[in-house]
Amino acid sequence: MPPGRCSPGCRCGRWHATSATAGCRPLLKPAVAGLAVHTKTIRENGDEPRTVTTLHPASWPPILDRALWQAVTDKLTDPSRTTNPGVEPRWLCSGIARCHCGELVYVRSVNKRPSYVCRGPQAHLRRSAPHVDAYAGLWVCEYLSRDDNRDLLRPPARPGVDAGALRIEAIQLGERKRAQMRMHAAGDLDDADLAEGLKEIKRRLAGITAMLAASTTPDPLAEFRDQPDAEQVWDALPLARKRAVLRLLAAITLLPATRRGKGFDPESVRVVPLAAG
Ligand SMILES: [Zn+2]
Repeated sequence: MPPGRCSPGCRCGRWHATSATAGCRPLLKPAVAGLAVHTKTIRENGDEPRTVTTLHPASWPPILDRALWQAVTDKLTDPSRTTNPGVEPRWLCSGIARCHCGELVYVRSVNKRPSYVCRGPQAHLRRSAPHVDAYAGLWVCEYLSRDDNRDLLRPPARPGVDAGALRIEAIQLGERKRAQMRMHAAGDLDDADLAEGLKEIKRRLAGITAMLAASTTPDPLAEFRDQPDAEQVWDALPLARKRAVLRLLAAITLLPATRRGKGFDPESVRVVPLAAG
């Protein structure tokens, strides 16, 4: 489906980079499953007011069975299905970390304080987004700095091809080319010999390039490989790349807060490594 305005049945009026889900947007409405949406604002223990949305059986008959509707909704809103991500999230863990209930979390700002909240119908989770992102970033850097993770996800070398030796030979060929041109300029090499020499160098360089291309599998952690300071590398990466690295390395779950009061509790963030160390 080409990009376009949201489907005629939807009143959100937004423009979508891809309308693959936009056309199905009416299907996402709980009303389809015979559910009414109730929204209320609650205040708890001096916390900032937050909106809680709950679903209740409605007075109209469902068009779709609730389990089927939930399955369709999960499928259509699964970020891994998106081939054109449209606007890239502005937060590291948004749409990657999960609430303890299993739903993905996203960021909602109240009074300019961005927090991760559960995407499920029960708004039972609220956690400072900057703190969670900082914690996840530190975890990645610490994880990649470990000695036993030096070769983590490193693509295996193609047997029989010594990429290091080939690269050195390519550098030497470049030097030889410059030397032949200097000799030609000084009158020590005639035109025919120069042309023959350069042709031979060009032929060998093309062979080296082809062998290197065939032997090199892209390294998913290329920027971090053999770098002494993972934190420095991480800080310099664009957010989209950080998110890709995080997806590759860890599953993050935001647990119910066990500590009351102000301050971020690192214990409330569970990070499980995905790649074998
Ligand atoms: Zn949840």
